[in-house]
Parts: sequence; structure tokens; C-alpha cells
Amino acid sequence: MTLTRTFNLCSRRLFSTKPNDYDLIVIGGGSGGLSCSKMAASLGAKVALVDAVEPTPSGVTWGIGGTCANVGCIPKKLMHHAAIVGKEISHAEAYGWLGVKKPDHHWHTLAKVVNDRIRANNWIYRVQLNEKGIKYINAFAKFVDKNEVHTTAMDKKKTERLLRAPKIVIATGLRPRYPNIEGAELGVTSDDLFSLPYAPGKTLVVGASYVALESAGLLADLGYEVHLMIRSIPLKGFDRDCVNKIVQNLKAHGVNIRWSEEVKEVSIENNRKKVNFKNAETGKDSSEDLYDTIIWAMGRDPNVKTLGLKDAHVQTSARSGRILADEFDRTTTEGIYAIGDVVEGRPELTPAAIRAGQLLAQRMFGGSKEITEYEKIATTVFTPLELSCVGMTEEQAVAAHGAENIEVYHSYFTPFEFIVPQDKDSEQCYLKVICMRSSPQEVLGLHFVGPNAAEVMQGFAVAFRKGLTYKDIVDTVAIHPCSAEEFVRLVVTKRSGLDPKVAGCCG
Ligand code: FAD
Ligand code: NDP
Repeated sequence: MTLTRTFNLCSRRLFSTKPNDYDLIVIGGGSGGLSCSKMAASLGAKVALVDAVEPTPSGVTWGIGGTCANVGCIPKKLMHHAAIVGKEISHAEAYGWLGVKKPDHHWHTLAKVVNDRIRANNWIYRVQLNEKGIKYINAFAKFVDKNEVHTTAMDKKKTERLLRAPKIVIATGLRPRYPNIEGAELGVTSDDLFSLPYAPGKTLVVGASYVALESAGLLADLGYEVHLMIRSIPLKGFDRDCVNKIVQNLKAHGVNIRWSEEVKEVSIENNRKKVNFKNAETGKDSSEDLYDTIIWAMGRDPNVKTLGLKDAHVQTSARSGRILADEFDRTTTEGIYAIGDVVEGRPELTPAAIRAGQLLAQRMFGGSKEITEYEKIATTVFTPLELSCVGMTEEQAVAAHGAENIEVYHSYFTPFEFIVPQDKDSEQCYLKVICMRSSPQEVLGLHFVGPNAAEVMQGFAVAFRKGLTYKDIVDTVAIHPCSAEEFVRLVVTKRSGLDPKVAGCCG
């Protein structure tokens, strides 16, 4: 008898009484699971939401809300803002605020205030679920078969339950990946960073995507020595001109970049972490250094290992382990759906998971046929200067249409808030619109590097979805003075070879 069958029989024996019946069971209480449960309940469905968190190797755990609310977007953005506040203080004197001392940052105060905020949000989620009549079960879920789920509670008694529903949604998300090397356990991940019980000190950040660059940027701005290890290409898939500006800006903020290296092993020396590096191409030993903190930011793996997917015949991708689902979020098993980060090929972004959850619930219980569009989604990297974009990069537009068929309008600009303090960050503030060359010059992509980039891009993303053209942009009368108006002032094409540095501002 296989282990799986043993488990199934045991669960049935444990629960001689009938399982609790629901219209919908949602596994995972993050952005996707919460939005799906709430929408389904408001459409009249009887819903059970099962959510639990596996503690990190150092024992960090958190409440309902998933990655975004606990160890992702929210703590990251609060810490990003804390870094911006430090910069604003350094600008104060230029505006006549005399006597403002050079700020000295206190990590514990920040970590506490961030985590207090998170706990308040956890509470709000629980209240919302209660108000909507959703049964919240703080437990790990495992499929028994395609309609039944066994749950083991997080409480001391490890209370077990059997739940049954004709529809089950998997929204279990991802967790950070650790490298398979000696001493990997001496590093932490973004799951630990925002509640780190000690000031990070000299930090090595390993990785070159969103999490790595955002963590490196905010830690450097909070005053820590940061080394960022990039083994190949930073921010793959983003516009290269813009990424180059972000990398230059990180360096200007004091981030030391270790190019083309990988970590070979980590050990302890004098209570610090000794890292041995190797060349990423040759594999030969390159150098070593001592750090107080190492952050692995090397991508994320799906939370599926203990879900019992085989018992429900739900297939996963051989490449990534993520769940396979179609555009209607249907897995390979009828009645079982999957949404959010855990699904192969989906953008790993909170708003995408939220939208998928809401629309799935509307299709299941509201008679809707609408599916989530994953094209034309805007995104922002919250580095010290933010990078926000929607649509194609210049490289993608060239590959899709040919360089001769596209027009690239671009410009450097000086954000208003950088003028008086003569902030050097203005050297990397840059924006770009890529469009078709022939009339009506349909816009293919918009890119913005500067402060508040996310705020600038959100409105343009709405217009972009509706088929924005270059003429629409430049025919729009600007809001003055602000950074977003630089889009409607764009006239210099790359093809012209003219200097894209803007000279004047008011005429
Ligand atoms: P999750 O939010 O991860 O929720 C899954 C839940 O399921 C978790 O609570 C998990 O513990 C639980 N679970 C797993 N297995 C089981 C089980 N067997 N039983 C019960 N429960 C289980 N996105 C943005 O749009 N903007 C940002 O600024 C941004 N910043 C980020 C910063 C960081 C550091 C990280 C790591 C991510 C960030 N993201 C950001 C991405 C965003 O957090 C995710 O895309 C989003 O949280 C995905 O939601 P989800 O519902 O798919 O999964
Ligand atoms: P990604 O999956 O985007 O990228 C992984 C990075 O780790 C790559 O740069 C990769 O480099 C590097 N890497 C992998 N293995 C190694 C190794 N052994 N040594 C060194 N480097 C390595 O990872 P993230 O965790 O940063 O982000 C996950 C997702 O979360 C993002 O795609 C994004 O959708 C979401 N997110 C969104 C945010 C936002 O909206 N602001 C913020 C944070 C996360 P290589 O290219 O060489 O393989």
C-alpha cells in the first residue's frame, strides 16, 4: 500500500463523522486567496479559507495576509519610504530648515513600527473574513481527493479537520529559494529581513531582480554597507537603458556591485559570515569577504510540496514545480482551480493575484465569463529611484516590429524636489515612450525612472490599456509643475540623435 493511500484511509478513520461541507474551499490566505474568498462569499457562497505559514529556518512566522501583507510589498514599501524620509531630512537645510542634524537611523524602531502595522493588518483581515461569514481555519491543508481537504491546525493541539467542497482553489504562493551550498543556512531571505532582530550591518545581497535590488537600495539608504552580487544580468526583461540608470543610481547610493560572481560557500569566522566567491563563468575561486548579514534573493519556489497534489491529480510544471492552469484558472482536475504566484507563467504581482481571485469567484458563483488579462500590466521596482513601466521594452519592440518601424521618444529630467538641494539623483532621472513609427503611432511601452514612479505610471497604464497613441500623449495639456508632465513634453527621438536633456521648464 502506498503512503498516500495509507494517509487517505487514516484521514477517513480519524473522521468517522461527515466532513464539513462548503461550496468553496480556498487554500492560501494571501492576496489571491483572500480576494477570491471575499468575492465568493459576497456572491452567496459558503466559503472556508485555510491558511498557515511554515516558519523560516530562523523561526520567523506571521499571520493571515500572505506574502504581500507580511513579508513583501507592505513592509518593503514602508522601509523604502523610511529611506526616502532620510533623504528628505538631508535636503532640509537647503530649504532653510537650519539645525537639522545628520540623521542616524535606528533599525529596531523601524522594524517594530513596520511589524506593528503588519499585525494591525492581520487583525483587519480576520475581521473582514468574519464579517463576510467566511470560515477562517489557521491550518495547513492537504488534499485527500479532488473534493476533500484534510487540515492540521497551527494550535498546540494540532486539531485536525476534514473539509469537503465541489470547488477548491489553490492560492498557496511561493517561498524564497536557498542556494544548495555549504553554509546556506547562515543567510536569511526577504521572509526574515523586515523583522530582523538585529541591525543588518555589512550586508551581502545575492540576486539581481526585484527583491535583491530593492533590498540593497533600502539598506544602503538606511546607512548600511551593502554589497550586491549580480551573477549575470540585473532586472532581466526590463528596458536596458532604464536598468542601466537604476544600477548607476544604486552605485551612487553606495551599493558596491560584485559583478559576475557566485557564492561558493559560507562559514563563520569571528562571529561574522565568511563568504567565498567564485567566478560565475569559470567557476574558479575569486575572492572572500566577511559580512554581518547575507540575504538570498535568488527567486522563489512554489508552496506545493505538502499539498498532496497527486491525490487530487493536479499537475505541475516539470520545470518550475508551479501548478499548471488554463486562462480560466482550471487545473488538470475538474473543480480544482489555481490562482496567483503558484501558477506557472503568471506575473508574480499582488494586483494580478487579487484580480485573478475576484474574477474566478465571479465566474464560479456570479455567472461571469470574464478572465484575467495578464497583458499590459504595469509594474514598479522600488529602488531608491523607482523604475516603473508598462508594455514593451525597446529591445522587445525592436524584436517584434524591427528598429525601422518603431520610434523611441526619450528625455532626462530634473524632478522638482531635486532642484533646490541639487540632488545628484537627477542625473539618472529618465523616461521613454516607445511607439510605432507610422501614424497613429500606437504606444508599445512607457518607462519612467525617477521618484514616485509608481504614482506616475498608474494613470498612464489605464490609457495604455485603452490603446494610447503618441498623439494622445502630446495633445494632453500638462499638469505643471510635476514629473509626470515630462511624458506629455516628450519630443526628442532617439533616431534624431538630439540631446535628450531638457533645458527649460516653463516654456
Ligand atoms: P501569497 O501571498 O504568498 O499567499 C499564499 C498563502 O498560502 C501564504 O500565507 C502561505 O503561507 C499559504 N500556504 C501555503 N501552503 C499552504 C498550505 N498547504 N495550507 C495552508 N496555507 C498554505 N508585488 C507587487 O505587486 N508589488 C510589490 O511591491 C511587491 N513587493 C514584493 C516584495 C517582496 C520582498 C516579495 C517576496 C514579493 C513582493 N511582491 C510584490 C509579490 C507579491 O507579494 C506576490 O505576488 C503576492 O503576495 C502573491 O499572492 P498569492 O496569493 O499568490 O500568494
Ligand atoms: P526573480 O525570480 O525575479 O529573479 C531571481 C534572481 O536571482 C535573478 O536575478 C537570478 O539571476 C538570481 N539568481 C538565481 N540563482 C542565483 C544564484 N545561484 N546566484 C546568484 N544569483 C542567482 O526573483 P525575486 O525573488 O527578486 O522576485 C520574485 C518575483 O517577486 C518577481 O519576479 C516579482 O514579480 C515579485 N516581486 C515584485 C516586486 C515589486 O512589484 N516591486 C518586489 C519583489 C518581488 P540570473 O538571471 O542570473 O538567473
